[in-house]
Amino acid sequence: MQIAVFSTKPYDRRFLEAASAGSGHRLVYFEAKLSVETCDLAAGADAVCTFVNDDVSGGVLASLSAKGIKLIVLRSAGFNNVDLAAAKVLDITVARVPAYSPHAVAEHTLALILALNRKTHRAYNRVREGNFALEGLLGFDLAGKTVGVVGTGKIGGVVCKILVGFGCKVIAYDLQPNPACLDIGVTYVAIDELFSSSDIITLHCPLTPVTHHLINEAALTRMKRAVMLINTSRGAVVDTHAVLKGLKEGVIGNLGLDVYEEEADLFFEDLSGRFIDDDVFARLLTFPNVLITGHQAFFTKEALTNIAETTIANVTSFEKTGSAMHEVSVEKIAR
Ligand code: NAD
Repeated sequence: MQIAVFSTKPYDRRFLEAASAGSGHRLVYFEAKLSVETCDLAAGADAVCTFVNDDVSGGVLASLSAKGIKLIVLRSAGFNNVDLAAAKVLDITVARVPAYSPHAVAEHTLALILALNRKTHRAYNRVREGNFALEGLLGFDLAGKTVGVVGTGKIGGVVCKILVGFGCKVIAYDLQPNPACLDIGVTYVAIDELFSSSDIITLHCPLTPVTHHLINEAALTRMKRAVMLINTSRGAVVDTHAVLKGLKEGVIGNLGLDVYEEEADLFFEDLSGRFIDDDVFARLLTFPNVLITGHQAFFTKEALTNIAETTIANVTSFEKTGSAMHEVSVEKIAR
């Protein structure tokens, strides 16, 4: 099949070329994000391959359908950017990579927690400038602290396991408790109790209408003062304006983000020669107790290999059987 691959960087290309060798598929790469403006690039293709910040809304799907596209393969687990109802109406199959490396994201989550706590990001700069003073670098022992994990699926489950290894008391909130978490002593509590008891809160639920702005002004009022908040799930699970206010008032003591509500205009690009045209994001960068990475939690060799291999396997399966291996549809998410 001919696959129009959007939002590609050189690393995507390297891993996809390796995974598709001998598959018979022809991959055509575009740096551009998929959008109403760019979907004409897919003309002549049978399938379209997208990433987290591509626009796979109803209008874009209608335009792709008119070009004969029958398959969208997402190089991600999350599918919040896809209008699945429109895909169903247009008879477009949507497939994703449900699990490529929960360890990659879980380990990055711990990297944010550890760096923020021990202020490694600040210590790095100090030492390079010959400043060996410790004032301002005081952390706390993670052992014995209560960590609240929201969403204990594949990634949250690994996060729980690592935190238990650190000697933390792990409490969790999920609609469906994970037996593997219960086995290692994780206690499931109501969301309000998680908010009020946690020293650290880390988010691993998908972005849905229910989790949109789960962390808002009301939620912050229920949290311990100086709580550490970590988000490696999807940006809009957190209301950034509320969090900014929480940082100014000291309600949030540390903030670690790998995702951001308005990241589509910023992340994955080198904007170092320009100014940041997002005042909220720019303000966040002024806090010494905020550590932001640009949606890199997934970015390990193992994850990119799995993403590429599963993406190609989805296409091959669709070509041979009419169904992709890991389809996501309105019916499947309703179950
Ligand atoms: P998963 O489906 O295995 O787990 C998600 C868990 O969240 C499930 O246990 C589910 O029951 C729970 N959940 C759903 N709705 C909830 C709600 N309203 N409240 C509490 N819990 C709820 O998914 P996963 O593979 O663990 O990934 C989790 C999320 O991480 C993805 O949806 C994606 O948005 C994000 N992610 C981020 C990166 C990154 O690079 N930063 C990479 C991969 C995934």
